[in-house]
Amino acid sequence: MSKIKILITGGTGLVGSAFKSVKTKHDLILVGSSEQDLTDYNSTRSLIAKYNPDAIIHLAARVGGVKGNSSRVADFYGDNVRMNTNTLLLAHSLGVKKVISLLSTCIYPDNAVYPLTENQVHNGPPHCSSYGYAYAKRMLDIHSRALRQQYGCNFITAIPNNLFGPNDNYHLEHSHVIPAIMRKMHEAKINNKNVTLWGDGSALREFTYSKDIAKILLFLLDNYDNSLPINIGNTQEYSIKEIAEIVAEIVGFNGKIIWDSAGITGQHRKPSDNSKLIKLGWKKEDYTDLKKSLTETYRYVIINYPNLRGVLI
Ligand code: NAP
Repeated sequence: MSKIKILITGGTGLVGSAFKSVKTKHDLILVGSSEQDLTDYNSTRSLIAKYNPDAIIHLAARVGGVKGNSSRVADFYGDNVRMNTNTLLLAHSLGVKKVISLLSTCIYPDNAVYPLTENQVHNGPPHCSSYGYAYAKRMLDIHSRALRQQYGCNFITAIPNNLFGPNDNYHLEHSHVIPAIMRKMHEAKINNKNVTLWGDGSALREFTYSKDIAKILLFLLDNYDNSLPINIGNTQEYSIKEIAEIVAEIVGFNGKIIWDSAGITGQHRKPSDNSKLIKLGWKKEDYTDLKKSLTETYRYVIINYPNLRGVLI
């Protein structure tokens, strides 16, 4: 594909900011909520009309960990449906040629067959801990498919699993598992304390570095044009206990880890199948090694602490 102009919504977030370190011939325009509020139709129209992009990578979303998803379920549903609907409708009416939107593995049915394959997204209700966010994301898939079917729009959706990296949200209650563990261990090391982590550490998860997701989304721009979503995460599974031990080693935290089993933990495991992505030409070795990516992430934390998202609120 020749050089094009790509508008990246959610450009100030975890995945959006990762695009700054990715080499590309394309012109990338990264925007956050301070430029325009995508829950508002007219603001979304102004944004897309102003930049007149060839493509949109739609990352903007109300995102949170398992606790935020449960306690603010209506906000997660309503804000995400509005942002997604406005972005897709206006991308279509203003003639944007391609839109790539992000879903999430947590939208899969609670009783799915493992590994998660893309044809199962709508086969049953999602886990109760995140149904507002999950149904909003499922509607993003439906809306993209419907615009393709009725108007021929080249709008695609991609499904990452658990993400982490620099510029993550480090809030103690509303963050995801890796930033939460990293922050707790960093602070415990400084204060010579133990850490308490949610669950019993046995839940299994797959993790993908935000910089890899940025590269994969640019890869999909050239290589994927289909109504079905595509899984894009690294499919190596780790228990939360293993992750805690690796992060402790990287942080240099030598205290005790206390597991609080009363906390909300979500599904036990949700392995995904990324064979469609691999068939397209993305290689397993193209994913950054977990320890290397966690080390880079912790370097970012050390340099920026306490000026991190979710720490200085
Ligand atoms: P993030 O760090 O929380 O960033 C969210 C982004 O959305 C920010 O740039 C934020 O702008 C923007 N945003 C939020 N509300 C907005 C609004 N009303 N109008 C305009 N922009 C708004 O999220 P992320 O982790 O990068 O996630 C990117 C995408 O990946 C999302 O679609 C998410 O659902 C998906 N995903 C994430 C994960 C994960 O583990 N993080 C896993 C699976 C899927 P400001 O910061 O400027 O307010």
